[in-house]
Amino acid sequence: MFFRQVIGQEGIKRSLLQSVNDGRVSHAQLFAGPDGSGNLPLALAYAQYVSCLNKQENDSCGECPSCRKYHKLIHPDLHFVFPVVKTPKFKDPVSDNFLEEWRATVTKNAYFDLDQWFGLIGAENAQGLIYSNESEEIIRKLNLKSFEAEFKVMIIWMPEKMHVACANKLLKMIEEPPNKTLFLLVAENEEDLIVTIRSRCQLVKFPPIDDVSMKEALVNVPEADGANVDTIVHLARGNFRKALELLQPDEVSAFNLESFKELMRSSYGRKFLDLFTWSESMSNIGREKQKSFLLYGMKLLRENFVSNLKNSELVFMDDNEADFSKRFAPFINERNIIQLSELFEEAFNHIAMNGNPRIIFTDVAFKTTKLIRK
Ligand SMILES: [Zn+2]
Repeated sequence: MFFRQVIGQEGIKRSLLQSVNDGRVSHAQLFAGPDGSGNLPLALAYAQYVSCLNKQENDSCGECPSCRKYHKLIHPDLHFVFPVVKTPKFKDPVSDNFLEEWRATVTKNAYFDLDQWFGLIGAENAQGLIYSNESEEIIRKLNLKSFEAEFKVMIIWMPEKMHVACANKLLKMIEEPPNKTLFLLVAENEEDLIVTIRSRCQLVKFPPIDDVSMKEALVNVPEADGANVDTIVHLARGNFRKALELLQPDEVSAFNLESFKELMRSSYGRKFLDLFTWSESMSNIGREKQKSFLLYGMKLLRENFVSNLKNSELVFMDDNEADFSKRFAPFINERNIIQLSELFEEAFNHIAMNGNPRIIFTDVAFKTTKLIRK
């Protein structure tokens, strides 16, 4: 990974480059940034630069033996630790068990989140961790002599997911590091890290990606061809992973939008038979989808209410939603927004508490009929 492949974050790149060129590489650094801000790709670019044998002024050379191995993430002095899951094959898993999948994922697109990662290693609903036995692996690797590079680099992704026993051993390693070792902790919620580790690391704090850099990056994404890039930039709020997701509107959001439209149209037209049909079909989609729909409904109600204020900065809708909103928004006003939102919220809570979906969705349908004409 090169610095130039990392989206935005120019200030952080500059200070990292400066510190290497001044010979002030701090041995334990915490790259803390929100989802999609690019702290993992920047950690990789930084590690590659530190290890590059022919450093250029602003980036690694890309051609020396070190860069070539970094390119494939196979440098023998580059080590990774990340959350993993227990599987029938790996009952006491460590990161190395999933190293192939990790390399494939990161080289393809280093902007991904924990859910995607767990999905990729076949454990969508599992609770993954950096398990306690990972600490022995860390110690073993760091006690190895460095093979080729000046620095041994250990990139720990999502250290906040580390088992406390492992975290305590890691703390000792950070306190008394083997010579020429660089720990890069790449965290999303640094407050969840144990304080003693946090206080021993130099904090590099990542803001969300700025809009200009985000737009530049999206123009090069094939899926953005024909899409409304300005809207995507606005909706993504500095999260590149989210922007990529928005370029591929998934079936779930399409379903939610269509269901919402149907409810609102039938309610406004007082088509009671249609409302019964709607409630019936919603009661059969399963609890997770029902919750997802109700949350989505709350969001869309808010957006439509706010869009009446004619301040586009405050509105977060994609093209399909905005299209529907043109005619729908005037029906959401200060006389019904609170009651409608509460209706959806209450339904969400009842679904979450295993209430009867048929009764709950019928209730939503008929109350909406009253409220939509206020
Ligand atoms: Zn190089």
